[in-house]
Order: sequence, then C-alpha cells, then structure tokens
Amino acid sequence: MKTKILVANRGEIAIRTIRAIQELNYDAVAIYETPDRDSRHIRIANEAVWIGDGPRSDYLDIDKVINAAIRTGAVAIHPGYGFLAENPDFARACEDAGIIFIGPPSDVIEKLGNKVMARSIMAEAGIPMVPGTDILPPGEEGLQVALEFGRKYGYPIMLKATAGGGGRGIRRVENETELREQYEIARSEAKAAFNDDSVYLEKVVVQPKHVEVQIIADRDGKTVHLGTRDCSIQRRNQKLVEIAPAFHLTDDQAEDICQTAVKAAKAANYFNAGTVEFLLDRDGKFYFMEINTRLQVEHTVTEMITGIDIVRTQIKLAMGKKLLFDQDDVMLRGHAIEMRINAEDPRNDFMPEGGKTVTVYRSPGGYGVRLDGFCYQGFTIPEVYDSLLVKLTVFGWSWNETVDRLKRCLTNFVIAGPKTTIPFYLNLVNDPDFRAGNFDTSYLDTHQHLFEYEEQKSEVNKLAALIAEIHHKKQNTFAA
Ligand code: ADP
Ligand code: ADP
Ligand code: MG
Repeated sequence: MKTKILVANRGEIAIRTIRAIQELNYDAVAIYETPDRDSRHIRIANEAVWIGDGPRSDYLDIDKVINAAIRTGAVAIHPGYGFLAENPDFARACEDAGIIFIGPPSDVIEKLGNKVMARSIMAEAGIPMVPGTDILPPGEEGLQVALEFGRKYGYPIMLKATAGGGGRGIRRVENETELREQYEIARSEAKAAFNDDSVYLEKVVVQPKHVEVQIIADRDGKTVHLGTRDCSIQRRNQKLVEIAPAFHLTDDQAEDICQTAVKAAKAANYFNAGTVEFLLDRDGKFYFMEINTRLQVEHTVTEMITGIDIVRTQIKLAMGKKLLFDQDDVMLRGHAIEMRINAEDPRNDFMPEGGKTVTVYRSPGGYGVRLDGFCYQGFTIPEVYDSLLVKLTVFGWSWNETVDRLKRCLTNFVIAGPKTTIPFYLNLVNDPDFRAGNFDTSYLDTHQHLFEYEEQKSEVNKLAALIAEIHHKKQNTFAA
C-alpha cells in the first residue's frame, strides 16, 4: 500500500496540493463537507472522507480532521492555506497524534501568529520595523498608552488586531479623535473575528509598496529565499494581484530585503515554506510586517520565476528530506503575475456570486500560462465558501511581455453565468499606471475608473451563452 497524505482543505488549493502529492507517488486523501460533495478536489483524490455537513465548521474541526487521517492511515497532513493552516492547536494535535504536519512546528506558528510577539522576536534580531506598541491593556489604560504613542510618533497610526489576518482587523486612524472613537470598536471587532480582543499600534508607512520574500528551510536550519513578490495592489488591505519579482527594487535593495528575510526566518527557528512580509516606503526603506507560516495563494508567481515546485519541496522537507539546493542554485528569471478570477461583482463592492452556475467555461492556454482551477462547466458556486474560480498566473521574459500575455488571457477567458472579476482586471491591465509599474497600496483608491466598465457582452460570449442554454435544456430533458 502506498503512503498516504491527507489534504485538510478544499477547492483550488486542495487540488494544487493533491497534484504534488500524487506526483511524489503518494496517495492523496481528501476531506469534504456536504456542500462540497461534487467538488473536483474529491474526484482527483485517491480517497475522500466525508467529515460533516459544515459549512466550514467541519473543515475547522481539529478532531474530525485528525480522525480522518487516523482512520485512513495518512502519515502526514497538508493544511493548504486558510482554515487550519495557521492554527497552532492543529499543528500540535498532529504532533500529538504522530502525524506529520506539513509546515512549521506548532510553537513557531504560535509565536509568529501573534503579531506583537513576532515583532519582538524580530526587534531582538535587529530586523528593521516601524515603531509600535505592545498589546494595549484593556479600557482607559490602553487608550492612554495609545494616545501617548500618537503624541510621540504622530499620525496616521494603524490600529491592528494582534491575531489579525486576511486584511481584517486593521484600522487607520488620522488623529486623536478617531483614535478615541475607534479604539473600543477595534477591540470588539478583533474579538468577534479572531476570538482575541488584543490590539496594538503601528506607525503608518505612507503609500507603501507591499514586498514579501518567499523563504524555505529544512530541519537542519538551512534557509534559502526564492526572491521577492510585490503584492501592493490590494483592496481593503487584502491582496488582489501578485507579481514576482518586486521589480521596482534595485539589485542591492532586493538582495538586502531577501537576506533580511532569511535572517528573520532563522531568528524564528523557521522550518518549511513561509513568507516574510515587508512594507517599502517611498524612500526605499523597508520595514518588517509579519511572517505568514504557510503556503500562500500567490506562491505560483514564485514557482514561475524560479522553476521550483514549492508544494513538492514542502512535502519532501516535511517527510524528512534535506533541502537539496543552495541559495546560489536559485535562479530568478523573467516576470510573473497572478490574478484571482473570482465569481464576484467588482462594481458592487466585490459581492460574491454564490449560488450561480457556470454555464460556459473556456480557459486560455498557450505559452507562459498557468491555471490553478477548481471550476468547470456546470459548476454551481457554493454560497458558503469563498468565490475563487481559478487562479491565472502568467509568465513572460519582460514586464511588458507579461502584461501583454495577461491581457490576451483575460480577453480569451469565457465564463458565463456568474459575474467575475475579469472585466475589472481587463481595465487594470489597460491602465497606463499599471503598465508603467506605478502602483503602491493606495492604487485602487486613486484609480476608481477601474470600476467603470460594461459587463462583457462580446459576440463570442453571447453565442457561448446561447449554446450553453441549448446544451443545458437538453440535459434537463434527459434528466426528466
Ligand atoms: P494581514 O495579517 O491581514 O495580512 P498585515 O499586517 O500583513 O495584515 O497587513 C496587511 C496590509 O495592511 C499590508 O499589506 C498593508 O497594505 C497594510 N498595512 C499593515 N500595516 C501597515 C502599516 N503600518 N502602514 C501602512 N500599511 C499597513
Ligand atoms: P525532486 O523531487 O525532483 O528530486 P528536489 O527535492 O530536489 O526535487 O527539489 C524540490 C524542488 O526544488 C523541485 O521543484 C526542483 O525543481 C527544485 N530544485 C531541485 N534542485 C534544484 C537546483 N539545483 N536548483 C534549483 N532548483 C532545484
Ligand atoms: Mg499580511
């Protein structure tokens, strides 16, 4: 019998991970909740375990996931991203059950998951960061500490949830009045979102670029970086478009930031794949922000420019192999851009289109194009999970070539049924500032015209919709 690895996730990332598991000649065990019973991640797995009706609660149920692994005899668990991926209790439960957790040890996840603790480890290691506070004490006392910080360092200030993630629990305050108003709100919001009401302050970096470094380390502490990514194009502090490398950096800056990331990973005794996030200010100075202790959505752009399969490497390292390549072996070539094709309506505040059925699905292909998909023709978007349909990643030698290719791919996509983020992305690739590489985290706020477009009604689309309708009706008649 083959060695089995369980994938504690769903959708696109489950598929991505199952592929790597099977390429390594292991069997992949999927888990699913009832709303996912027709999901593609189950069909491609070697074995699938139903864990409950959910929604979401069973994917988040540590005991159920561990039991599924024990029942099927899986020796390791890949958590993907989201769900239990950054939950130290889950990693610890794996360790206690004698199951390999494909990621860093639980104590590392725990330390780095607390942004204030992460900052203190990094401060000790001499990693540059913006001024910030400890966890603020509750009530009036905390407010006084906050006001004092504002007087000392000036405004604007970021009020951040210590346990924050996914762009949530971050509030920018412009002055004392706002700080007074927002302080308790931020605490209760943090409590609701992360079941932890602790918040702290950070000085704002004005119009920064978000630059992050992919790192990978083996159990002996050998740590290499796989270059930079620029994730500055964000909506509400959450990434929308990811680019590798962060090509605005000079070679010296890139080397400096990558070496700093390696140093940060070592300071945390990091193992397996992770990402060190920084903010780059307008003077080219960079500041540590956080370490994400998991695979990231945007790992594909790094894979495109390095040729290194990060998920394969993660699994091999977790299964006890050493890192077989050195820093000097890692070659960064060309450019890559990733866009998340979501079933959402960008013009309506990115409202998810859950419940709708994809009646036509035709994806682009050709040189330099990678699709990490989930969706297929006839797929009904579940209302209870995220709205990602497919990740489009393109590679090109130059930035210009990469943007040209991206534009061609977006034009060639045909998705009928739900509204998608494609027309918005088409506006983006046609925007002169994007083409010129002029963007920082304030890009969307200053480029509202990207939200002005007509829903795609090309001839191809109309025809495709018509064919789909006929096709669909025929199927319905058959079924009846
Ligand atoms: P999360 O855990 O949600 O990813 P981060 O701490 O990584 O939170 O911050 C997410 C985003 O919020 C950043 O990419 C950046 O756009 C913005 N941000 C966070 N901290 C600051 C700061 N001190 N100054 C300016 N922008 C910030
Ligand atoms: P494999 O399973 O094919 O033997 P390894 O475990 O050696 O791969 O490496 C894991 C990942 O690192 C693979 O995606 C591989 O392409 C990449 N890699 C391996 N060796 C090198 C090297 N010398 N230089 C750059 N990348 C490498
Ligand atoms: Mg972050």
